[in-house]
Amino acid sequence: AKDRGRNTYEFYTEELTRKAFERVLLESNLRLAVEREELFLNYQPQIELATGRVVGMEALIRWNHPELGLLSPTRFIPLAEDSGLIHAIGEWVLREACRQARAWCEAGLEFGRLGVNVSRAQLQRGRLFEDIQSALAASGLPPERLELEVTESFIMEQDTLAVEQLDRLRDCGVSIAIDDFGTGYSSLSYLKRLPVHKLKIDKSFVLDIADDDNDMAIVAAVISMGRKLGLTVLAEGVESARQADFLLENGCHEAQGFLYARPMPHEAVTAFLREQAPK
Ligand code: C2E
Ligand code: CA
Ligand code: CA
Ligand code: CA
Repeated sequence: AKDRGRNTYEFYTEELTRKAFERVLLESNLRLAVEREELFLNYQPQIELATGRVVGMEALIRWNHPELGLLSPTRFIPLAEDSGLIHAIGEWVLREACRQARAWCEAGLEFGRLGVNVSRAQLQRGRLFEDIQSALAASGLPPERLELEVTESFIMEQDTLAVEQLDRLRDCGVSIAIDDFGTGYSSLSYLKRLPVHKLKIDKSFVLDIADDDNDMAIVAAVISMGRKLGLTVLAEGVESARQADFLLENGCHEAQGFLYARPMPHEAVTAFLREQAPK
């Protein structure tokens, strides 16, 4: 038993060392990833439930790592946030997404709004407004086409810099969606103060709406609250027709998930939009 205890301990420290090592390695690789063009964007359609129309495209970053292959953002975005690399990456995402969305506009393909995820650190640095203005100007994408996805957990009462920037963005036509709605710890009072346009119900609530009474109650209540506040309500992670039926019956406006389409590279989205276009 003693031996086993020691082995477990050794295994544990080895595991920790391996993780720490991987972290340092990934971080230094990530520094070069932007220059080496290893990062790219996938897009996932957002669908209007009542009509089936495409009303938005969310940009989701991917890293094509030379040795490790395709990496999900959950593996490297937290690293980018801790190391400050998120500023360079976030700026690149904005430019690239606006440029690619503008290409759909020019091809006459209707995609609705372009959703771009923004990290807390980007808002807190106070340069987001300028970065967005310059990405819009460089691409020629109209500001009304851009929607920023921010999570509720960082919209704190005292964060005047963040609030000020969101106000300025709203004033120039950019809209704001609250991502992962329902998972933050904040009070809901920010919904009165902030220029929010859309609530995205987190996929953890949507997962079981066909079977779990509590999740049904939560989702129905969020939809109803959002509607009363005059917001657009979108459900994330919709995978089944039963979920979609429940959402539609309860007045949810929009949905996003594998039921409609997985996140796809730019060219695949172009083909998808061509397919959807009225003939
Ligand atoms: P998110 O913003 O909540 O994005 C939704 C995630 O759900 C995406 O994971 C998407 O692929 C996944 N998803 C979509 N439909 C379904 C479904 O039907 N079922 C299930 N189970 N999952 C679905 P992804 O692409 O791995 O992104 C993970 C997170 O990484 C995002 O969560 C977002 O927080 C972050 N992220 C992605 N791109 C960026 C970016 O450009 N900048 C920043 N700061 N964060 C990003
Ligand atoms: Ca998002
Ligand atoms: Ca989300
Ligand atoms: Ca999420």
